[in-house]
Amino acid sequence: MPIATVNPANGETLKTYDALGAEEIERRLATAETTFRDYRTTSFAERARLLHRAADLLDEERDDIGRVMTTEMGKPVKQARAEAAKCAKSMRWYADHAEELLADEEPADSDVKDSGASRVLVRYRPLGPVLAVMPWNFPLWQVVRFAAPALMAGNVGLLKHASNVPQTALYLEDLFRRAGFPEGCFQTLLIGSGAVEGILRDPRVKAATLTGSEPAGRAVASVAGDEVKKTVLELGGSDPFVVMPSADVDRAARTAVTARVQNNGQSCIAAKRFIVHTDVFDAFAERFTAGMKALKVGDPLDEDTDIGPLSTEQGRGDLEELVDDAVENGATVLCGGERPEGFTEHGWYYAPTILTDITPEMRVHQEETFGPVATLYRAADLDEAVALANDTPFGLSSNVWTNDEAEADRFVRDLEAGGVFFNGMTASHPAFPFGGVKRSGYGRELSGHGIREFCNITTVWHG
Ligand code: NAP
Repeated sequence: MPIATVNPANGETLKTYDALGAEEIERRLATAETTFRDYRTTSFAERARLLHRAADLLDEERDDIGRVMTTEMGKPVKQARAEAAKCAKSMRWYADHAEELLADEEPADSDVKDSGASRVLVRYRPLGPVLAVMPWNFPLWQVVRFAAPALMAGNVGLLKHASNVPQTALYLEDLFRRAGFPEGCFQTLLIGSGAVEGILRDPRVKAATLTGSEPAGRAVASVAGDEVKKTVLELGGSDPFVVMPSADVDRAARTAVTARVQNNGQSCIAAKRFIVHTDVFDAFAERFTAGMKALKVGDPLDEDTDIGPLSTEQGRGDLEELVDDAVENGATVLCGGERPEGFTEHGWYYAPTILTDITPEMRVHQEETFGPVATLYRAADLDEAVALANDTPFGLSSNVWTNDEAEADRFVRDLEAGGVFFNGMTASHPAFPFGGVKRSGYGRELSGHGIREFCNITTVWHG
């Protein structure tokens, strides 16, 4: 894949970049290692000061970087600005909480005595340069949710961003530099995916985090495993959105639209499979369909656009294949199912789509739909709802609409996912752990769990 900005709204190539050569990669790895030696000894207060400065700059530049993101990957510009604001907020959260999250821990006195020690403590020390392989869908946020805790923990970051968002990738390096972080604390490497293995095998790189597809995760984790280096993987999702009879069906249907089409439907934690109890199925289907039909598809730079184009032509092609396969095998199209009128020649648009009468043989039943396509299932009862929700290789998050406490307990006990969100849609927050099980990956980002992933958890024992 060339490293380039190609506007998904019209297919125009706006900027291309040469990938870094071996010499430049070597220089940057050496810089990361040298910088880490000093940076690891800086105080939390100093790191927090720099991260607050980065957050302030990002807030000031929200409009500009928002437009860059929209031009690179097609998200509606109002959502791009909101993404930048969320990044600034999360930077501040980590700046303000890292010291407390990484404070020394003291085991119980009785255990200390039992070990024959006079004193024991557990200290979280930084690991070193961490490689971050990141996707284009939230081109600022995916990186910041790694970078903010990593920098506060005293690690340094090497970013290999997706090849279609190079301007956002370069902006991030520049942002941290202008905030005052020493050169080498956060570096963007403009490289293709083929160069990742060599960098990960370099002894100066201590660990890797990857957000992206399952094949990319598998490739990076295999190399890291071979090198005995830690990884965190945030991979795909096909989150269920379950609606039970006690729910507010109107509100559920309205939220369902946003939960499915946010970011043009290209979100790992978007609700993708809608599983509705038979008692409220018709009412939900009618309102959900009306909501999807009412969305405004258009130029993502327009303020009133709800859905822009998909990020790449390949991405739209993959989505079309999934829909066509379902329709050929008997799925019913409640809306969409094709390229929207007026957008057939330019830009990689796809109409908001709902498919129902899904059977297990259809690819949409098992694969992730990365675009504005929902699958709608009817469940006879709670047991069937749980079984359908878990009938996927993924396990990122889940949404359940119910006002019945006993039912809610059952979902918390039985859903195979890293999150269960009741009467709302899944959204990440810096204070809550984020991540999945099954093919959605392992490890956690955000909260105390996220910042501790790339730490050397050190036992300090005094005789
Ligand atoms: P992708 O193709 O896997 O790309 C993600 C990153 O991995 C890019 O930087 C890509 O570089 C790199 N990459 C691809 N193949 C690689 C390989 N063999 N070795 C090393 N690096 C490799 O994913 P995407 O299409 O950009 O993103 C969509 C996927 O990400 C979806 O499945 C989505 O659900 C998932 N996602 C998950 C989360 C989460 O938190 N769980 C969040 C967002 C997205 P190039 O661009 O140069 O190919």
